[in-house]
Amino acid sequence: MALQILRTGDWVWLPSKAGGEYAVDIGAKVKFTDSGQIQVVDDDGQEHWLDKKVALKAMHISSVEGMEDMIELGELHEKGILRNLFTRYLENNIYTYTGSILVAINPYQVLDIYNMQQIQQYKDKKIGDLPPHIFAIADNAYYSMQRYGHDHGESGAGKTESTKLVLQFLAAVSGQHSWIEQQILEANPILEAFGNAKTIRNDNSSRFGKYIDIHFTPSGVIEGARIEQYLLEKSRIVNQAHNERNYHIFYCMLKGLTQDQMNQLHLKDATGYYYLTQGGEITCEGRDDRAEFSVIRAAMKVLMFTDDEVWDILRILAALLHLGNVKYSSTEVSNIESAEIQDKTEIQLVAKILGVDANKLYQGLTSKTIQTREESVTASLSQEASLDVRDAFVKGIYGRMFIWLVDKINAAVYKPSNPGQKVRSIGVLDIFGFELFDNNSFEQLCINFANENLQQFFVHHIFKLEQAEYDSEGIQWEHIKFVDNQEILDLIAIKKLNIVALVDEEAKFPKGSDATLLQKLHQHHSKNRNYLMPKSSRAAQFGISHFAGNVFYNVKGFLEKNRDTFSIDLMELIRNCKFPFLLNLFKEEFKLSGKNTLKRNATLGSQFKKSLESLMATLNACQPFFVRCIKPNEFKKPQIFDRELCTRQLRYSGMMETIRIRKAGYPIRHKFKDFVDRYRLLADGIGPAHTVDCKQASQKICGIVLKGTDYQLGKSKVFLKDAQDVYLEHQREITI
Ligand code: ADP
Ligand code: MG
Repeated sequence: MALQILRTGDWVWLPSKAGGEYAVDIGAKVKFTDSGQIQVVDDDGQEHWLDKKVALKAMHISSVEGMEDMIELGELHEKGILRNLFTRYLENNIYTYTGSILVAINPYQVLDIYNMQQIQQYKDKKIGDLPPHIFAIADNAYYSMQRYGHDHGESGAGKTESTKLVLQFLAAVSGQHSWIEQQILEANPILEAFGNAKTIRNDNSSRFGKYIDIHFTPSGVIEGARIEQYLLEKSRIVNQAHNERNYHIFYCMLKGLTQDQMNQLHLKDATGYYYLTQGGEITCEGRDDRAEFSVIRAAMKVLMFTDDEVWDILRILAALLHLGNVKYSSTEVSNIESAEIQDKTEIQLVAKILGVDANKLYQGLTSKTIQTREESVTASLSQEASLDVRDAFVKGIYGRMFIWLVDKINAAVYKPSNPGQKVRSIGVLDIFGFELFDNNSFEQLCINFANENLQQFFVHHIFKLEQAEYDSEGIQWEHIKFVDNQEILDLIAIKKLNIVALVDEEAKFPKGSDATLLQKLHQHHSKNRNYLMPKSSRAAQFGISHFAGNVFYNVKGFLEKNRDTFSIDLMELIRNCKFPFLLNLFKEEFKLSGKNTLKRNATLGSQFKKSLESLMATLNACQPFFVRCIKPNEFKKPQIFDRELCTRQLRYSGMMETIRIRKAGYPIRHKFKDFVDRYRLLADGIGPAHTVDCKQASQKICGIVLKGTDYQLGKSKVFLKDAQDVYLEHQREITI
């Protein structure tokens, strides 16, 4: 590479010294040059002295200035995107477009940009008329009355807040302040109470996915809504990691109930419950559990929960807490390890609250009935197995209650339309992002499978947008090909003997175990290039090469999680309970099964796959808008931009697909005027841009400098490949 002529004030890209997978070049401004050295100051204010011989890439003018829409960046690469987001973020411009995709960086501070005045401002405007904003996306969706797909991001990135802002905007502009609008808005506190929790990443982390479809009358007034929920994290109810909490509702209830109610349910404060204290935290800074409880109660009123129903819910929650305090001890009966519950206080309480027989409950929690052809025998359970049975019981009840809550809310807000009437609706999806933990299990497989689906949807959408840009510029693009992630989807859930199918098959097979499952997975897929064998042959793992990176899944517990059932004895106990609300939670199961022969329910994997298919069908039928939420730092603090964290999210979010698809075509674009100004010296006799016909001049420059290569001239821009850009820059350096 030739020596560069850098002048004071020029902007360059400084190669990252950090190294590592997520290191990205940083922007820097030339401050001083002399014969041997140049001094630059990077975006973080750091000074560097560099040898003049070091080749530095000049920054495209669009990157220097920053763009509200990153599609307009002349060099759409990772560092360019990152820098653009960074400089805007520091100025509290948290929203940036990439075409119709909105990137939102969590400000971690209350910005005065969501008031009524702003809502009015963004009403009836086109995207691009005003600075990027979540309201612009919401308005666009409202204006075209087509569906809106909000999308995933890291936990704590701001998905749920964005969803709420969209709902707020829609409620405001559809403008009636009606009862139904209020009901739809009030669904949120209820869902969050039962489905959100404090985690180390987010004090109000949603532990389920949701899709809210809002229905409008032909004149644009909200007339109803429907909520769909996905895959609540049930393990949290019985188990919390360090510094995390159980679902908010438990803590709110214990703070908010009257003493009389507490006495009736035999409750004490949160410190007294095993299920609420494993994380070591019972309070959450910035949350007032008592005040929250009144908000939840008020919301339940708005959504037509009767006082009896509210009380029934509280009874269930209380029973689950008491169950968590059951203390088992281990004994040996004729050489067989078994469990015993010495203190029966909790058993009696739970039996009373749930209206079940205390002895049968005790039996159900310490033994299991094995039905053979001739007879039924009772086998005692080990302490460990007993704990599993209890926890599965608790999770099973809570999980069904969550579904009941969503059904109850839908019963209030969903108004089925008349047949034949065209439904106008906007859907808002708030769903878990790609997950990669130290230990990944069945839940992560489901979540990442969902993300592969959304990724494919996203990529296809981006490709269509890209084609639209080529079309509007009159560019030939038929030869541009790209590869999506279909192969990975095939491996997980589509092709014969896919992973989900094998997990299902093994869960139904009486002798199936996690180990036999792993064997079959290896046997059928070891040759698939997206399937990864564990690094050590002893590890009970298999890996998948996801679009966002490799993930190894630990098969321990896969089958049990997929079966998602609990003890038949406890199921029978519920069937005979004197608590109609509890019975009702299980009505589907009891409807299906004849007496004593509990038919096996659909597995979790197949249920999830089905609801995902229906989600994808819905999404495919609408015109989507995407909001990519980015978490700028792990400290939940404003004005801190962690480059590596952001880069990682940009990659995981699939944002980089925009670049990949661009690179498949013409990644570098210059407006004719800019192109002439920058490169006119490479061809003889072309005057400054304002004195010539820039399109003709651009054509002439390309014809001379890039002859015979694959560039194209559109209606307003020159479209180039990366190599041509490099060549042009090189020629410019040696010419100047
Ligand atoms: P996610 O749903 O992506 O996990 P949340 O939407 O719950 O993340 O956001 C986490 C926290 O970040 C919120 O509780 C709030 O404190 C803050 N936050 C998110 N978006 C905004 C915003 N637009 N303005 C101010 N604070 C926000
Ligand atoms: Mg959330």
